[in-house]
Amino acid sequence: MKKILLYNTLSRRKEEFVPIRDGQVGLYTCGPTVYNFAHIGNLRTYIFEDILKRVLQYNGYQVRHIMNITDVGHLTGDRDMGEDKMEKGSRREGKTAWEIAEFYTAAFKSDLQQLNILDPDIWVKATDTIDDQIAMIENLQNKGFTYQTRDGIYFDTSKFPDYTKLSHQDLESLQEGARVEKNPEKRNATDFALWKFSPAGVRRQMEWDSPWGVGFPGWHIECSAMSMKFLGDQLDIHCGGTDHIDVHHTNEIAQSEAATGKPFFNCWMHGAFLIIAGGKKMAKSDENFLTLDNAFLKRDINPLVYRFGAFQTHYRKPMEYSDESVRAARNGLQHLQNQVRQAAQNAGGQAGTVNESFKAKFLQMVNDDLNIPRALAVVQEMLKSNIDDAEKCATILDYDRVLGLNLDKLDQPETLPENIQKLVEARQAARAAKEWAKSDQLRDQIQESGYTVQDTKGGMKVIKN
Ligand code: AMP
Ligand code: ZN
Repeated sequence: MKKILLYNTLSRRKEEFVPIRDGQVGLYTCGPTVYNFAHIGNLRTYIFEDILKRVLQYNGYQVRHIMNITDVGHLTGDRDMGEDKMEKGSRREGKTAWEIAEFYTAAFKSDLQQLNILDPDIWVKATDTIDDQIAMIENLQNKGFTYQTRDGIYFDTSKFPDYTKLSHQDLESLQEGARVEKNPEKRNATDFALWKFSPAGVRRQMEWDSPWGVGFPGWHIECSAMSMKFLGDQLDIHCGGTDHIDVHHTNEIAQSEAATGKPFFNCWMHGAFLIIAGGKKMAKSDENFLTLDNAFLKRDINPLVYRFGAFQTHYRKPMEYSDESVRAARNGLQHLQNQVRQAAQNAGGQAGTVNESFKAKFLQMVNDDLNIPRALAVVQEMLKSNIDDAEKCATILDYDRVLGLNLDKLDQPETLPENIQKLVEARQAARAAKEWAKSDQLRDQIQESGYTVQDTKGGMKVIKN
């Protein structure tokens, strides 16, 4: 195996990746809280994680990837205060929390598909592992790490000496910061809820019996319970966005290591934020809430433009989003697609082999903490080199195992948006019925939407202008 360097937030440096089991990687990525659509900032993090997984696979590792769906227990404040996000979504839309979870889970999975992000081996819903979470809390209770208040069971962070080993924060200033969200019954400001009781007299939509009373699990416990349930002690890499470092992942480490007495994940990786003009981060509560649907699909922009755009910035650097950056990414992807089409045409169907020296160069870049911007420079160097065209085609398709830009599907006509597809079908029906005036009118309508219609012997061809 070639050496892979990954930046580990635990040590704050790039380290050689060493798996716990030879040739295998256990990967856990924190999934979405399904009370709303994912915004394109969230999706940037999932693109980074997809690249990580693909690079590991490209290096020959067998990756076992788990992703959770947070469908309960995530309050609007990360430190156990505020409203339950699912109940909030339910009120906003007049649907049950269960319906909200189902709808936004499907929307999220569709976003991943549009971005050519590989599915995890296992999807797990928090609500499907309540028993595992309760068992873990009982374990922590037996080991003396918990205490009870009027509103729930809490983890006592003062009993876990290395609490700030991931965040590297100064505990005193952290205690001050955490105190902003007041809960006078907490022993330490950084303590967090493992189980919350349903408020007296209130029937929550999502609640379960537990040894401590009816309620629901805190947000952090689900990721610890699920990662251990499905990866056992094979805990290699855990990822998320940088916002998870100080609270969510810090708490996961504390409760997991307290429960097992063993180190939890060896490597913690975090993707930097997507920001918009002026340096503001994108948030679900913002007016700048851009989704894949409203920023790309509705504007008839191939969602892979966003994927390609994300490649221009290293995952640990903030990425700026603007109309200008989308335009540049759109041109860049089109240029690359044309280069690949040209090489394929020149090769004239001749099969080539992967150019080993260019493969080694590409591998060196992606294995250097996923340096995709520099890997893209190698792609250009290879395509502009004087190696044989058939070799170029084989090499770019090999690179595409990491890039995931569907460069093997360029000859297939692109799928048409639903409204255009409907017009096409109507025109086919009109032609079959020999309604020529109607057929011409539908053709004009399709062309006005930015498509060219060609009637060929093989049928109607519709191509985006
Ligand atoms: P959430 O659905 O809020 O739990 O977030 C899903 C993922 O997106 C997490 O890994 C977050 O860390 C990440 N995330 C949240 N906001 C952004 C942002 N503006 N840019 C990049 N990643 C983000
Ligand atoms: Zn998580």
